[in-house]
Amino acid sequence: MLEVLPNIAKTQASYAINKVLVLPMNLTISVSYRCNSRCKTCNVWQRPNDDFTIEEYEKTFESIGRAPYWFTFSGGEPTLRKDLPEMVGAAYRHCRPGIINIPTNGIQDKIIPDRIEKVLQAAPDSEVIINLSLDGVGEKHDQVRGVKGNFERAMRTYAGLKALKGRYKNFTLGVHTVISNFNVHEFDAIHTFVRNELKPDQFISEIAEERVELDTVGMGITPPYELYKPVIERLQADIRAENAQGVARITQSFRDRYYDIVKRTLVEKRQIIPCMAGIASAQIAPNGDVWTCCIRAESVANLRDHNYDFKSAWTTAKADELRRSIKAGECFCPLANAAYTNMLCHVPTMSSVALEVGKGTLADSMSGKRALNN
Ligand code: SF4
Repeated sequence: MLEVLPNIAKTQASYAINKVLVLPMNLTISVSYRCNSRCKTCNVWQRPNDDFTIEEYEKTFESIGRAPYWFTFSGGEPTLRKDLPEMVGAAYRHCRPGIINIPTNGIQDKIIPDRIEKVLQAAPDSEVIINLSLDGVGEKHDQVRGVKGNFERAMRTYAGLKALKGRYKNFTLGVHTVISNFNVHEFDAIHTFVRNELKPDQFISEIAEERVELDTVGMGITPPYELYKPVIERLQADIRAENAQGVARITQSFRDRYYDIVKRTLVEKRQIIPCMAGIASAQIAPNGDVWTCCIRAESVANLRDHNYDFKSAWTTAKADELRRSIKAGECFCPLANAAYTNMLCHVPTMSSVALEVGKGTLADSMSGKRALNN
């Protein structure tokens, strides 16, 4: 984690002077629009496919080098690609990310655990986070995700993944819930089930946003603030009750602040802290289009037209134009992926996390001493 600090300083300088001094520390690779779910909150499966090959990823990752600390392999359903472990291996060889994040719908229960085991083997010194998507309990999940039997299959996948836990120290197993108008009233049931039955390493939730990437703009899937607020506050209450230690305490502190930012974004409808998408974070679409983020999904260039040289695609006039627009606050959103790097590059947020973690550590050591003296 400390290795990211020099890049944070360069990223802040890039933002200040409107010039690319460093490549993104947070990279999302959408590996395919193909998906075997039919979610009410997503139309990505209807988009045409023109997926990058593994050779194209090799060349792209080689051109990016060691800049990215976070990789997300998303989709579509990323595990539908048989060569997912090879893709992760290519990213690992060329970029050595600290964290690799992969969501899954868990439908292919006979295939996913083996495929993820190969992913874990392909990146032995990266923290690999696999998040199972869960948008309801039982039939409610199947209704939101549009596939009969999805819940049962997802549970079998989860059990298969959990069985890997003892063997791979670099493995974090999470559950990810998208809260939309279709399940906002079910959150209590989801929360209870996840906490009491699944007991994942992490439980994260995001509000369903309308995204150009997912072809959901204008669909009215985002729940109103009054309905979403109790969901967020429940998650924050969990975080605050948890008294995590070490790195987990830092992560929890960022998550708590992220939820504060989401609440304010929904009410104030503006960037609460500056969005560094286009500098700190980027996304590559399955066909090699390079985006500043998936909400706007505006291509700055296609890697195929730039001989798979990321820097060349990232420094076009269109990229500069988008960076100007983002910095001018012409868009706002609660996208978690961008928000975490935004917080890392935001000095007041970093200072308040450091202060809170420091205070907590001091309080723990004081209570430890008291316990020893009693
Ligand atoms: S505020 Fe949201 S929509 Fe705008 S660039 Fe950042 S992540 Fe994208």
